[in-house]
Amino acid sequence: MSSLKTKLDQAAFAALQFSYSPYSQKKIGASLQLTNGKCYSGCNIENASYGGTVCAERVAIWKAFSENPATEKITEVVVASVEKDPWPPCGFCRQVLAEFCTPETIVRLINSDGKEVTYQFKNLFPAAFKPEHLKK
Ligand code: ZN
Repeated sequence: MSSLKTKLDQAAFAALQFSYSPYSQKKIGASLQLTNGKCYSGCNIENASYGGTVCAERVAIWKAFSENPATEKITEVVVASVEKDPWPPCGFCRQVLAEFCTPETIVRLINSDGKEVTYQFKNLFPAAFKPEHLKK
């Protein structure tokens, strides 16, 4: 894996190793950093009852916000895969990310071949559902 440029890249690939994905066979890892500097990671965890499946991005978010106040924001997210093309967050995860990201949050998609695609969150999900009470 030649793309392990940053601590977040390394954390995302480390999490990917624990992916439980017997149904999709897609191993995904995600990592993120908060405004307070703390980093969290997660992998996709699937379930025989498909609705119980959770993506890597949401696992990392649950870990982060079960230990930090929601006043923290995500400054950067990395999604790592071993797929041919970098793996983008699904719509469900984009909506969950919208709760904790800013428009400027960096979202980097990387794969094991060193391919990388970088977005600002506002470009990845420009029309997020954001109830009035969440707007600032
Ligand atoms: Zn997802």
